[in-house]
Amino acid sequence: MEYYQIAIDGPSGSGKSTLAKGVANKLQILYLDTGAMYRACGLKAIKTGIDTKDTEEVEKMMKDIKIDITHEDGEQHVWLDGEDVSKEIRMPGVSVAASDVSAIPCVREAMVDLQRKISEGKNVVLDGRDIGSKVFPGAKYKFFLVAAAEERARRRLLELQQKGVTDTTYEDVLRDIQYRDQQDTTRAASPLVKVEDAIEIDTTKIGIDETLDLLLSYIK
Ligand code: C5P
Repeated sequence: MEYYQIAIDGPSGSGKSTLAKGVANKLQILYLDTGAMYRACGLKAIKTGIDTKDTEEVEKMMKDIKIDITHEDGEQHVWLDGEDVSKEIRMPGVSVAASDVSAIPCVREAMVDLQRKISEGKNVVLDGRDIGSKVFPGAKYKFFLVAAAEERARRRLLELQQKGVTDTTYEDVLRDIQYRDQQDTTRAASPLVKVEDAIEIDTTKIGIDETLDLLLSYIK
């Protein structure tokens, strides 16, 4: 039996995870949030107290890191060295650390291997930055989501507030998004890029339900 992958790439806050979850739910296939894995690496760097931009230190850290992904009732759980860190990786500060360490090639190699391993023998929708360009260049469907940075910051802030994070301002979130956009698109290792065969969808002005319908209309 042939299995297929659906790649959803795009910058932070473009709606990737909500849409990927919607697609997984509709098609009854696995959803893999790859950003969560880089977040776990970023969190480990914070916990270890190392400089997230120091390649040598991060390489050393990656020698004995253990990241596992499990799924319970359709929710993805991320385990770092045996501890469920699914909530902790969403905290402000971890996103920038994730962006920093994700620019280091050994981190990318380890995470891409893990993503391919988890996807083996399954139909899967993955969201990230390099799914269509690097992880699964042969994916059956490739989408590239975009949205204005201000709108993405507004959405991210709302999401944080719903999680009970109240000490972050709109300006903080916008700064974080702009920092990550710059770093994720200009890094040498697998930068965020729209591949030629990806379908681009601008989600700035369309709601999530409408975008999901649009996305599903491409999937036969
Ligand atoms: O998707 P999310 O915002 O959770 O990702 C956190 C960070 O992980 C991103 O800013 C990006 O630097 C990195 N990332 C990546 N490749 C992926 C997914 C995420 O480099 N496939």
